[in-house]
Amino acid sequence: MTVAENLKIIKEIIPQNVKLVAVSKTHPVNVILEAYKSGHKIFGENKAQELGEKHKHLPTDIEWHMIGHLQTNKIKYIASFVHLIHSVDSIKLLDAINNEALKINRVIDCLLQIKIAREETKFGFDFNELVQLLETNMLKDTRNVRITGLMGMASFTGDMVQVKQEFDFLAHCFVELKKDFFADEPSFKELSMGMSDDYPEAIKAGATIIRVGSHIFGKREYTKI
Ligand SMILES: *Cc1c(COP(=O)(O)O)cnc(C)c1O
Repeated sequence: MTVAENLKIIKEIIPQNVKLVAVSKTHPVNVILEAYKSGHKIFGENKAQELGEKHKHLPTDIEWHMIGHLQTNKIKYIASFVHLIHSVDSIKLLDAINNEALKINRVIDCLLQIKIAREETKFGFDFNELVQLLETNMLKDTRNVRITGLMGMASFTGDMVQVKQEFDFLAHCFVELKKDFFADEPSFKELSMGMSDDYPEAIKAGATIIRVGSHIFGKREYTKI
């Protein structure tokens, strides 16, 4: 199966209003170009430097998504062009993105990443802590970031009952935050959840963006040093 065929199959089964981010991390520019030439223009990477490099070598109308944990000193590699940062997991990072965006006079769209996996995970806000932060009006000074929704990663497990519960929880978080903090903001509308092995469940639970890598590009090839 080619990358173009894989993309076609996925697009046939997902609803038209669900955005498919093709996760191209670790795959070379020529493979991304192959997908691009088949008509796909939305790609995601999890490392800022790799994203910055690939952006330089590929068509400018690609919509680039940052989906992985972002260190504050790496924002500079992507700030000028990134379409959406899915992985805002601390106030420190939010402030740093805001500062970079301010320097270049941009407003950068971001999602707040929430911990939804039952297993111990490093990144993401605890939902209750996030609510407390929002109550202290933490977003009022960050005018160069726009929060457009939430992102989450389910547990790495084949137990689809558990995965579904975790997606349902994120959908619940979205509804609660929308009601209490973003009711007047129509741009708060995205729910990024679902990967190769669980995107059908994510869509059933209300995902508006799915992030699919290996089902499009095959297994990731990590470069040996
Ligand atoms: C790698 C990655 C994906 C895609 O994973 P696949 O299982 O290959 O589809 C999605 N989201 C994030 C945050 C990732 O790092």
